Amino acid sequence: MNKKDDPVQQLTAWKEVPADTDFTIYNIPFGVFSTPRRTARVGAAIGNDIIDLSAMQAMGLMEDLELENNLFAQNSLNRFIGMGNDGVNRVRAFIQKLLTEEDSSLREYPSLFVKQENAVLHLPVEVNDYTDFYSSREHATNVGKLFRDPDRALLPNWLHLPVAYHGRSSSVVVSGTGFHRPKGQMLDLHKDPVFRVSSRLDFELEMAFIINRDTPLGHSIDTTTALDHVAGMVLLNDWSARDIQAWEYAPLGPFLGKNFATSISPWLITTDALRPFLTEGPKPEIEQFPYLQFSGHANYDIDLEVSLIPEGGEENVIVKSNSKYLYWNIRQQLAHHTVNGCNVRTGDILATGTISGPQSSSCGSLLELTKGGKKPIKLKNDLKRTFLEDYDTVVMRGQAQQGSVRIGFGPLTGQVLPALG
Ligand code: MN
Repeated sequence: MNKKDDPVQQLTAWKEVPADTDFTIYNIPFGVFSTPRRTARVGAAIGNDIIDLSAMQAMGLMEDLELENNLFAQNSLNRFIGMGNDGVNRVRAFIQKLLTEEDSSLREYPSLFVKQENAVLHLPVEVNDYTDFYSSREHATNVGKLFRDPDRALLPNWLHLPVAYHGRSSSVVVSGTGFHRPKGQMLDLHKDPVFRVSSRLDFELEMAFIINRDTPLGHSIDTTTALDHVAGMVLLNDWSARDIQAWEYAPLGPFLGKNFATSISPWLITTDALRPFLTEGPKPEIEQFPYLQFSGHANYDIDLEVSLIPEGGEENVIVKSNSKYLYWNIRQQLAHHTVNGCNVRTGDILATGTISGPQSSSCGSLLELTKGGKKPIKLKNDLKRTFLEDYDTVVMRGQAQQGSVRIGFGPLTGQVLPALG
């Protein structure tokens, strides 16, 4: 039986949450936060609050779980998710129980709840390595047409393997972090190389999964057990300077056009919380090698949205996509990443690649939405965009619903600041 068919137990929290919250009782994501009086530690989100797990453990409220000391008094989730998904699920189920039972001990300690508006959210994990896949067929086709020629949009390897490149972990930043417009080499109108500030700055709508344990060098992870290695997912914005990218990418792929900033959402949505939203993915078009095969639901039905907010302006929803469109799923991505014996480590971030869908409104980047900058998109108040302008803010959202079970990722925001010097 597919795990998706396990009914999700109906839960009702005594803790009030806004009707439209991403952080329902079914979610209970984990993150790292600080407050004016206390440094970064681990918490769980419910509604508009954060439960201070570090304080909870220190007060002895989690003794039944027999956890390692100071597991939550950490500035990253690495040690916590390093327990593996069984351990994380035990903590998550314990929190759900405390939030639903009437005589809960949590009710006696309102100070364990911190309002999210009074907290600063940090990167959820200490990022070891960052890899970016290229797994949406629609995105690869759209970009192939724009960067190369329409007749060979999809390169010959694409249907055989999940194409990827190694990104840079040092510039992975948490939601809310601004970054400066990059400078670099690019071609001018006459196709001569010039050095200047990028004028074709873009976003890429992606999701990413986070690895929960180190594997030994030489070890391969198979598609069957892949999710045991995945702590959960976040939203990811792979900011891209298309002018730099187009000149530099041959023959080794993205470099300075991508590594100046990559934003992720602060809350880790656990693999277990995502389970009710598993769904079928696109059928493979050609027979795949056995190490990439997986029968069963391996895609997630998560609605994704991108908004653009010009400086001082209104929010414009410009993309609506869904992660179910991904041709290569995360099981296949992880199996492929390790098939040669490449090891992974706790805190590694593996991104899906831009998630575009079949509709014109489901293009996950401005490059695609504007046909390479040729057709501006219209915004409210007579504004237009081909690529991002200084002080534009990009907001990404992800939400999933199955019957009464609903979860969300919380917003992923980032603002473009002017180039330095
Ligand atoms: Mn990307």
